[in-house]
Amino acid sequence: MSALAERLAAVDARIADAARSAGRDARDITRIVVTKFHPASLVRELHGLGVVDVGENRQQELVAKSEELSELDLRWHFIGQLQTKKARSVRRAAAAIHSVDRERLVDALDGAAEPGDAPLDVLVQVNLTDDPARGGIAPDGVTALAERIAAAPTLALKGVMAVAPLDEPPASAFARLAGYAELVRAVEPAATWISAGMSADLVEAIACGATHLRIGSAITGPRAARV
Ligand SMILES: *Cc1c(COP(=O)(O)O)cnc(C)c1O
Repeated sequence: MSALAERLAAVDARIADAARSAGRDARDITRIVVTKFHPASLVRELHGLGVVDVGENRQQELVAKSEELSELDLRWHFIGQLQTKKARSVRRAAAAIHSVDRERLVDALDGAAEPGDAPLDVLVQVNLTDDPARGGIAPDGVTALAERIAAAPTLALKGVMAVAPLDEPPASAFARLAGYAELVRAVEPAATWISAGMSADLVEAIACGATHLRIGSAITGPRAARV
């Protein structure tokens, strides 16, 4: 077994354990492997191990890798801050965008649809901190943003996404996120996704109802320094 296969299996075992402890079915949890800063060859290797859902946080990397691997059956999730001028190319490449945090971006993504496009899955990214630089909309804006997405004909509102704060235990932050998920479901009952949980806090996220985990380094190994 390769080191990569071992790490993937170990993470999947942790997910299964955490789901069991939370009284949940692990089949209701999608494990997205975050491959940012790693080459397309690693994504190909992951695909060979059965990985389907992969995540990227930069437009250029998403586009380059998804084009290079276009013959593989992969679902690309975009999880990073997104400039409106890059909405079109990210929409082309991604199956889902987790990081929608402002109305202008909703309009840009909706306007980027081509005739005949399937609706694009999008999530409201919620900021669980008081620092606007961390990305995500402040909690008091969640309902209005969800309504804007629900009204966009080419977007499908799927749920919420968040990153745990650095200065708070993840469990209490993810408990708040579960409340914001309810606000979004009040707008769109089918918006059942909760995208939360990274390498360090996946157990807490599963306990708080996460349906989509974004796991990077625990599976891929350490990332090279950002270039
Ligand atoms: C990099 C990243 C992850 C994965 O983080 P790890 O700690 O490597 O698991 C998850 N979510 C977002 C938004 C990221 O940018």
